Amino acid sequence: MRGSHLILGNLLVGLLVISLTACGPAQAPGQTQVALSKSAQPASIPYQPDSGNLLVHCGALIDGRSDTPKSKVSVLIVDGHFSKITAAKDIAATVPVLDLSDYTCLPGLIEMHTHILESFEELVDLTMYFDYSVDDYMAAGRKYAHRSLEAGFTSARNLGNYYAFVDRQLRDKIDRGELAGPRLQVSGFYLTIPGGGGDLLAPGIPEESIPGHLRAGVSRSTEEFRANALKAVEGGADVLKLIASGAVLAYGGVPGEPEMSREEIQSVAQVAHDAGLKVAAHAHGAQSIKDSILAGADTIEHATYIDDEGIRLAIQHDVALVMDIGAGDWMIENGRKQGWVEEFLRKTIETTQVQRESFKRAHDAGAPIVFGTDAAIYPHGMNGIQFAYMVEWGMTPMEAIQAATSRAALYMGWENRVGAVEVGMLADLVAVKGNPLEDITLLENVEVVVKGGLIVKR
Ligand SMILES: [Zn+2]
Repeated sequence: MRGSHLILGNLLVGLLVISLTACGPAQAPGQTQVALSKSAQPASIPYQPDSGNLLVHCGALIDGRSDTPKSKVSVLIVDGHFSKITAAKDIAATVPVLDLSDYTCLPGLIEMHTHILESFEELVDLTMYFDYSVDDYMAAGRKYAHRSLEAGFTSARNLGNYYAFVDRQLRDKIDRGELAGPRLQVSGFYLTIPGGGGDLLAPGIPEESIPGHLRAGVSRSTEEFRANALKAVEGGADVLKLIASGAVLAYGGVPGEPEMSREEIQSVAQVAHDAGLKVAAHAHGAQSIKDSILAGADTIEHATYIDDEGIRLAIQHDVALVMDIGAGDWMIENGRKQGWVEEFLRKTIETTQVQRESFKRAHDAGAPIVFGTDAAIYPHGMNGIQFAYMVEWGMTPMEAIQAATSRAALYMGWENRVGAVEVGMLADLVAVKGNPLEDITLLENVEVVVKGGLIVKR
């Protein structure tokens, strides 16, 4: 009995909090051109995810897969999935209509690399994490998930938080419709060596004073990496994140230098693949990039110092590069003002330009590149700023859009769920006024967001 009272109490508290923060999928009546029927009211939180029924008239549609946009397309959404895509106005409106005749519609965007429960604010002093509770983390996660969704990112991979498994809670609350946010793949924690890029060992801090829940993936041998990878899988991770080389935003890390051996990376990849999961390998250095690809990583995060051999291997093994080339300018401009750790700033400056040049080389050579920004190292919700950088450094606007839609979905293993406006896929859709193929910066201010057929922003 005591248990059930507690559960009821938590539910009531949860509902109270949710209704107070229902700035997410709420919508004032009359905002759409055709009033929505009651059954399709999007939603104050909590709501039933992927339950929307909607007819969307798009001025133009970039479907995420084909290389040419179509003009005047109507998209019928039934039970949260795309059901029919046809010439405008062909479909009789038996469901509520969302008229986007002046807009270009695109699939919901995909962020392949975020840290959605953490923020650049902690870059002043990483030991702040020592005192963070689950509630602190969830309060941050609720806010950042909402901002990410409002920016048009309806799916995301959360590639690490220091507090083990807090991301799993956020994912599940979003999946139950209790919070507004992207569909998440979560990694649970970082698989990293002691003092490595995913560890919080700091100069002058005794190791034993660091709370254990912040170091769940710290591993000292191939066997420990295997065991901790298994712990992540059994704990409910959707993707495994390992730190193969030094990190920019960690004390003492050298971004070009290997931290994990190829055998250690391989042990993690084996556990992940046995469980049907993918492995995201943080690797700045040329050697770690090659080691990670050869050991079975599915995506290379950062890939800053990738050499020609690494590019060749990425192509040969069909491993996608997730290169966060959009954040550097913001970090350099704001980091010093905010008093970030000097070492982090120095390494940011050292890696920003070279990563962009590597991006261009890799793209010119034909390596697969998908959209990931490392959101948290700059403000959540600004994710879309990276599109312009990807175009500046060699992609066509259509390539950049596909990198954040169907291509991203493919490399996260969700190619049958999201990333394209196609019959049968989850009805995630965004819209901008104008043509993003002519002005890619339009994607910095997505005006309409639909997730699972429910309007979350208009
Ligand atoms: Zn990261």
